[in-house]
Amino acid sequence: MNLKKSLATIPIFQQVGTVADQLNMETYLVGGYVRDLLLDRPSKDIDFVCIGDGIKLAKAVSAALPERPPVAVFKNFGTAMIKVGDWEVEFVGARKESYQRHSRKPQVEAGTLQEDQERRDFTINTLGISINEANYGELLDPFDGVKDLKRKIIRTPADPELTFSDDPLRMMRAIRFAAQLKFDIAPDTFEGILKNADRLSIISGERIIDELNKIILTEKPSYGFKLLFVSGLLEHFFPEMVALQGVDSVGDKSHKDNFYHTLQVLDNVSTRTDSLWLRWAAIMHDIAKPATKRFNQKVGWTFHGHEDKGARMTPGIFRRLKLPMDERMKYVQKLVKLHLRPIALVNDKVTDAALRRLLFEAGDDIDDLMQLCRADVTSKNDHKVKRFLANFDKVEKKLQEVEAKDQVRNFQPPVSGDEIMAIFGLKPSRVVGDLKEEIKEAILEGQIQNNKSEALELMYRLAAKKGIEKKTNH
Ligand code: ATP
Ligand code: MG
Repeated sequence: MNLKKSLATIPIFQQVGTVADQLNMETYLVGGYVRDLLLDRPSKDIDFVCIGDGIKLAKAVSAALPERPPVAVFKNFGTAMIKVGDWEVEFVGARKESYQRHSRKPQVEAGTLQEDQERRDFTINTLGISINEANYGELLDPFDGVKDLKRKIIRTPADPELTFSDDPLRMMRAIRFAAQLKFDIAPDTFEGILKNADRLSIISGERIIDELNKIILTEKPSYGFKLLFVSGLLEHFFPEMVALQGVDSVGDKSHKDNFYHTLQVLDNVSTRTDSLWLRWAAIMHDIAKPATKRFNQKVGWTFHGHEDKGARMTPGIFRRLKLPMDERMKYVQKLVKLHLRPIALVNDKVTDAALRRLLFEAGDDIDDLMQLCRADVTSKNDHKVKRFLANFDKVEKKLQEVEAKDQVRNFQPPVSGDEIMAIFGLKPSRVVGDLKEEIKEAILEGQIQNNKSEALELMYRLAAKKGIEKKTNH
């Protein structure tokens, strides 16, 4: 690969090089950008390391650019950042680091480029490219990072045990990079993770979930999860998922391994969606199976109510994992709760009322729910899979027919609470809510049509039964 040619596509490299030469500072393009350049992969940010003061270099670069971008200085870290177009460009002086055992915050002092490369987490992240005129485009690769890129291996440049003990977040990063790049982790590097898995306890939940979500967003998330599982990291922050693993047997009756089933479902939805939250719904859909597992002599293993219990477990798990506690959690919770409903609607004798109820409860998430249900079909028997999927086609068709007729997917009460209060001269009260609820129920049950005149008629009948009289205007 011709590095000079690749660098020519973005003017910033030449520009920074010129300024660095004026300041007489050795400067290198380093880290993720170089890695992604060699992998021909898109990259989000650009990092420069100089021998000297990174903040000074950033200010000089900004002054030399026609748009004079503002310089964000992070004094504590000795770094500075400017935005150039869509790029976040960061500058830092080369440094070496030493760690104390109780923290992942290192003591930092100025160092050589080689020392700066050595403190980096993985060989593929240690690569530097000189951008000074004298040796523009020269690759500096003291730890054989290029070889590891070619062999597709994640390996630490320094002793793995020390690397992971110094900063346990790197264990999550190792698996995240392996998952994103589809690389293997070198055996001694993996050994280092096994030995230090417990040290993950000093890492904040926010940092862990950042890495986990990146793993979940990879093309085949099961790979990253399997690494998290066998490395012993997963049980530290997500024991509920680890509990899914394993098979119990009584006589000749056993159940499937719900951990591997869940991963299969996750991979299945991931072929169809990049939505983090639909992927989370796949991860969570059977989370309560261990807690609801029973053995029954006649039918074998059962997991009755795992969808309801799973929905109840969702907020607690989200809170602990530092996932958002807003409508995204509610969405996951809803899909977990409803994930068995479509399959129950396959039966020919299913009523329109049951279809309306599902549409009403799923609302706009009905399509995502159907995607989850399709992904949930993981039988090894192709014939069975085809039959189940064909059944879902039937359910979807029925749902569409009912929705076309009754429009309950985005149910809006045909008579509002305000109208009810005005008609009967009521203050906000229980009885207003009851009337609304009974009208909604009648619509879902198909006793009346979803329109205003039938809703009003029912409302008067119900009110009369309750002894509520229409307000008269004297
Ligand atoms: P991406 O931006 O895709 O997550 P990246 O490699 O650029 O990948 P960053 O977190 O942006 O990752 O870090 C930039 C560089 O800083 C890395 O390439 C690596 O050299 C170094 N680095 C980042 N975090 C660590 C860490 N915890 N320990 C050692 N080096 C690190
Ligand atoms: Mg980066």
